[in-house]
Amino acid sequence: MFDLVLRGATIVEASGTLRADLCVSGGRVAALLDPETPATAKIERRVDGCYLLPGLVDAHVHLREPGLTYKEDFASGTRAAAAGGVTTLLDMPTDEPWTDSVESLIEKQRLAEGRLHVDVGFQVALRRDARDLLAVCALHPVSVEVFTADVPAAYLHDTQALLIHALNLVRPLDVLACVSPGDQSLLEAAPTGGVDAFLASRPPLAEASGIARTILAAAEANARVHLRQTNSALGIATWRRMRGLADTSIETTPQCLLFTADDYAERGADLKASPPMRSAEDRDALLAALREGLIDIVATDHAPHARAEKRAHYGSFADIPGGMPGVQTLLATMLHFVATGDIDLPALIRMCSANPAQRFGIGDRKGSLARGRDADILVLDPRLDTRISHAEQLSRAGYTPFDGMQVPGRLTTVFLRGVLIYEEGQLAASAPAGAIIGASNHGIA
Ligand SMILES: [Zn+2]
Repeated sequence: MFDLVLRGATIVEASGTLRADLCVSGGRVAALLDPETPATAKIERRVDGCYLLPGLVDAHVHLREPGLTYKEDFASGTRAAAAGGVTTLLDMPTDEPWTDSVESLIEKQRLAEGRLHVDVGFQVALRRDARDLLAVCALHPVSVEVFTADVPAAYLHDTQALLIHALNLVRPLDVLACVSPGDQSLLEAAPTGGVDAFLASRPPLAEASGIARTILAAAEANARVHLRQTNSALGIATWRRMRGLADTSIETTPQCLLFTADDYAERGADLKASPPMRSAEDRDALLAALREGLIDIVATDHAPHARAEKRAHYGSFADIPGGMPGVQTLLATMLHFVATGDIDLPALIRMCSANPAQRFGIGDRKGSLARGRDADILVLDPRLDTRISHAEQLSRAGYTPFDGMQVPGRLTTVFLRGVLIYEEGQLAASAPAGAIIGASNHGIA
């Protein structure tokens, strides 16, 4: 007897769709049956007319704990994830202190224990002195983050030699290296003035240079590398021409696909982040890449700040804390691009579930509803709409840049390893069901 059977839906995978009844046992997908095949289960649910999606995997989230819990914490951030259909998120290391050692990673795991509403993998930062790298990788982080610009000196790998050295160190450790592409030599450290000065201080050329240098470094070091948030036409053009030179993947965010620098006039601080929003031409180039399948991963760069921090008066636009919430709205914002015809549902699953799972070494459990995978299941009703609103946001940030956006399709139900964690606008009252997960295998769809 199965624990659960969901009947009457269409299953969406990165590879396509399938009419099947989905059976769950022991927290995993136990069988995909031809529709209406007799099967006994403790719980049988009809989900006629709905889609079943594998839970989304958000590869770029800042949960802010430890040290910055007035912005977000493990409980609030993973509640937001659960309500948005992100059943796995990968937490970035730039908290206070940064996660860069055995001690700091173990402390993070200790703090997270019992407070996670979705599954979480941890990412660690590579120090320039690479202290603790070997030992910390034995704890199975899902990535090692390598920063090429805009970070404290202890983490800065700003020359090509340093970058190649870093990738050579990470390569034998069987963990993905992630590079935030930039070029410190082209950035202005502390621009004063308004939006225009901030934009000028973070030119597309710096991103494109970072992408080119990272691909060349990955080729030289024979390393697997994922490129973090990218959003310029020049960066995408560079990626388009050079990506075949090494085992690399690339990521962008919903906000960069939806907003341009013109939106600062209305949304100001709420939209301030790095990289900055860019021109309509940049946004269109990014959208074209999305349509073409050139984007491997869409992740949110969920980086909340307290309302008061965003609202405070700053001497220059650059001084406003960078980042915005997003983990709760990943599915809804990407459904917008399904509605516009830019992508289809399998492409959404490829970029927001299958590829991040496989690339970050958790593809044996996540990113698919194939038999044996974790039963992280989203029920999406295409007959209903979603209206994104400030009021429904569970992040400590207390707002969403996508307030007022209406998209066809509504997430009605979320299962995490077979456990019901969200339904009809409400999180389940039961204890947090999330777990800490580590990298276990590698590859890409
Ligand atoms: Zn980030």
